[in-house]
Amino acid sequence: MTLRRSAAVVLFLLLPLLARPALAGSPEPSPAKLAAIAAIEKNSAAVGEWGRKIWEFAEPAFQEHNSSKLLADALEQAGFRVRRGAADMPTSFVAEFGAGTPVVALLAEYDALPGLSQLDQPQQQVNPRQTAGHGCGHNLFGAAIVGAAIAAKDAMTSAKLGGTIRVYGCPAEEGGCGKAYLVRAGEFKDVDVAVHWHPGSSNSAGMKSSLAIIRFRTRFTGVSAHAAGSPQLGRSALDGVELMNVGINFLREHVTSAARIHYVITNGGNRPNVVPQEAEAWYYIRAPRMSEAQAIFARAKKIAEGAALMTETKHEIRMITGSYEILVNEPLARAMDANLRHIGAPQFTSEERAFAAEVRKEFGVSSKPDEEPLATRIEPVEIGMSNGSTDVGDVSWVVPTVGLSVATTAREIPGHSWANTACAGMSIGRRGSIVAAKVLAATTVDLLERPDLLKTAQRDFRRRLGETKYATVLSDGPPPEKLDDF
Ligand SMILES: [Zn+2]
Repeated sequence: MTLRRSAAVVLFLLLPLLARPALAGSPEPSPAKLAAIAAIEKNSAAVGEWGRKIWEFAEPAFQEHNSSKLLADALEQAGFRVRRGAADMPTSFVAEFGAGTPVVALLAEYDALPGLSQLDQPQQQVNPRQTAGHGCGHNLFGAAIVGAAIAAKDAMTSAKLGGTIRVYGCPAEEGGCGKAYLVRAGEFKDVDVAVHWHPGSSNSAGMKSSLAIIRFRTRFTGVSAHAAGSPQLGRSALDGVELMNVGINFLREHVTSAARIHYVITNGGNRPNVVPQEAEAWYYIRAPRMSEAQAIFARAKKIAEGAALMTETKHEIRMITGSYEILVNEPLARAMDANLRHIGAPQFTSEERAFAAEVRKEFGVSSKPDEEPLATRIEPVEIGMSNGSTDVGDVSWVVPTVGLSVATTAREIPGHSWANTACAGMSIGRRGSIVAAKVLAATTVDLLERPDLLKTAQRDFRRRLGETKYATVLSDGPPPEKLDDF
């Protein structure tokens, strides 16, 4: 074989690898989609900077004033019409570009978690400038969504696509259910479809549901007395809390095995020598379906009554917030998966892989030294369940919704941990957020230029919804100003 002929053979063999094959059922990316992806590439420094700044703000639920302003301002500068303070929440916003249908919603989050302050280094160390931390990566979440919306808007303009791109600035995902308040206020009434993502330790397009959740507090009120001098005159509110928790812990055996119940005691009295007059605990009840969570909540209320009866105290239950399980959407998940596969999983540098390996070691999850510290593969589209909960659930019951997970943290590192905060603040998180922004922008373009996709997504949505009627589980009244105000 001559040198020329063997080169031709090599080229022939390589061709299928060089030309990215079109995925089954997914057309080659349209020029508008390619333009949106290229726009993210061009704007990647800004997306990275927004994510880092929000990481530094580290503002918890309903207090995300700087984070919300940063994202709303960026959208305004890019030509979006911005309305701030939607649904009576000062840190929410709705930003819109274009007109008419379809209306594509992109959901942005940006709240941090109290107690998860951490420097961007692979060993646990509190950041002296923060009390909260982005242990769930919502700094990247908001930045990537805004980057995606601006890129999709640029592509929409150059390709002269009709429709509306609308970004929802959603406060307080962590416990505050900002999206459920936006849904309750009718903000999604004219929306055709919603997209979101979540930073994580793997790469997959969204067929994962989540657990429905109900959050409530129980406060017991008793009679204070000298705990040694005249205990017979005291009625302990703390006894009420403790006996309620005994009942809750026995209840665990008789609920569906996927259910989760957790609590913290927010007030257990002040001094051991004073019989506590006031005591309170804060509970989360989670289950695969909202109806199951509600049934468990009804039983928890009986347990509270029983504890009050036993201790001769009074009790009061206050519902805080709740959100539904996610209603998945298969056609949308497949479209998003095709985009994720076209763009590819994040390609991390050797420094980032070393950082992730160190984080895993520090956290105690590293078992073998040669294990890949960051996810490199893309998971298949499969129906699954995450044990977490999200207020995206409420949106998914009123409009077809699709989500995405992109690796922004080391493998097997749990959410809501110092290690997650560390990765979300450095280039691992940034790199993941750029991939997410590209996939979200590409999917938004799909939804603007493919009415067939929208139609099949809506059909899938109606089928999964069935006869179930969505009704908010939020109490009446305005959203809280702070979660601790309840
Ligand atoms: Zn989260």
